[in-house]
Amino acid sequence: MSAYLAKAGLSVGVFEARGQCGAHCDTVELGVPGYLHNLHATWLATAYSPAMTDLDLPGLGFELRGTDVTYVKCFESGRNLLHAMDFDLTYRNWARVSEADAAMQLTALEFNAVNLDEMLEVNRRFWYGPPTAQTMEQMYKLLDGFLASQGHAGISGVDLLNMTGFEVLDLLFESDEVKTTTASAGWISGLPPIHRKLGPLAAVFMAGIGGPMAVHNARGGSHSLTHALVKATVDHGGEIWTTSPVGDIVVENGRAVGIRLREDALMPGEEIRAGTIVSNLTAAPTFLGMLGEDVIGTEMASRIKSFHYDEQVLFGAYYSLSDDVEFASAAWDPGIQRAMMGYLGGETIDDMRRHNMNLVSGVMDDEIMGNWFMPSRATPPRRHRVGTRRSCGWTFHRIRVDGGADHLRGHRRLARVGSRCARKRAPSGSSSSRQASRTSSSSSSR
Ligand SMILES: Cc1cc2nc3c(=O)[nH]c(=O)nc-3n(C[C@H](O)[C@H](O)[C@H](O)COP(=O)(O)OP(=O)(O)OC[C@H]3O[C@@H](n4cnc5c(N)ncnc54)[C@H](O)[C@@H]3O)c2cc1C
Repeated sequence: MSAYLAKAGLSVGVFEARGQCGAHCDTVELGVPGYLHNLHATWLATAYSPAMTDLDLPGLGFELRGTDVTYVKCFESGRNLLHAMDFDLTYRNWARVSEADAAMQLTALEFNAVNLDEMLEVNRRFWYGPPTAQTMEQMYKLLDGFLASQGHAGISGVDLLNMTGFEVLDLLFESDEVKTTTASAGWISGLPPIHRKLGPLAAVFMAGIGGPMAVHNARGGSHSLTHALVKATVDHGGEIWTTSPVGDIVVENGRAVGIRLREDALMPGEEIRAGTIVSNLTAAPTFLGMLGEDVIGTEMASRIKSFHYDEQVLFGAYYSLSDDVEFASAAWDPGIQRAMMGYLGGETIDDMRRHNMNLVSGVMDDEIMGNWFMPSRATPPRRHRVGTRRSCGWTFHRIRVDGGADHLRGHRRLARVGSRCARKRAPSGSSSSRQASRTSSSSSSR
């Protein structure tokens, strides 16, 4: 936003608490020296964003890097289900699992080809515009047409978005492989299938119905996106002030007129005035912390207090590996060896539904399932680090205050699922089987 405002000719100052911007789009050396890890955002959907061209992010050094197989889920049966940039590859992989589900992809693709302009327009408005009734009307109309093309003319777009993602998966697909792969992709994209409205969209779009998923990592890691955005702000005349935590938003006559830095800032207690104040923090720290109940009133304060951040919490384990991971299901379809991300666990849609229901009910499920990344497959390590690989697994948890041990047990269980999916390697001690000495983990909520 700061880059857009500066580009529009406004005088812009960004005040960032840390030494550099982009806390949740970070790439850091963590644990073993020489290994970089993306601590938070790893799966970048920036290719869809108008900012790519509006701010000329590639011209500012931002280079998207992906793999031709974009997403894969492996199963204990030894099979895998994949999404590839080449539709033919996806189709052939799906057809071996379910002819009906592969045929469904094909008719969906035909629908897309005819409605491409409309789809791109709705996509742009829905994800990058304000939420308006007009955008939703367009979305409903598009879904009406899609459902009719799939032989579900009796169900409208409105009906569809009132279903949960799980209900829509059962409506559209036959095989557990396709249903669980789609549910997992939706889940990790912030569209949990247990919910109405967003969950059904995952069921439709994450099945690859919008065509191949244009998701990537970036050369140098996710943080290069932050760098490009900072450069875009500065190139257009904006100023970035780091080590400048904001304590309060200054309000006069009911209007925000400035900010006051905290006492531990580079300029302790400094007051900076501006015509408009924009907070990039979420509702609770902005309204309860920086403004306070005195300013926003009891009613607004009580609404914000009732918002909970902890429906799902990500727990990540970061591994520094000496070599690439080999999946046992590569024998079924070797495409899995070229994927930079995928999912472990959740063999059936009933397992995923139960897990998701437990998650929102605050119950630790016995089965652990989670997402893995191997960004090195998209951005091979530089020459002097030949052979180094980075990978990360995420699981979704409820955090319990006393839950540290549960998380660790959970991750050991995920590692066991992972090892069942991994092919047996050379005897220990050989260079290809050695795992670099440390793993690191961090947890964070979103
Ligand atoms: C573990 C995890 C994994 C994720 N994975 C993905 C993914 O794969 N793909 C994806 O698209 N999204 C992912 N997300 C979401 C994505 O990371 C965030 O939506 C995105 O980074 C938010 O960017 P932002 O600039 O709005 O916020 P942030 O990056 O959080 O920036 C907010 C900034 O405000 C600063 N700040 C805080 N308090 C103050 C204060 N008082 N004064 C001044 N500055 C302050 C912080 O230091 C921070 O730099 C993930 C999130 C998490 C937590």
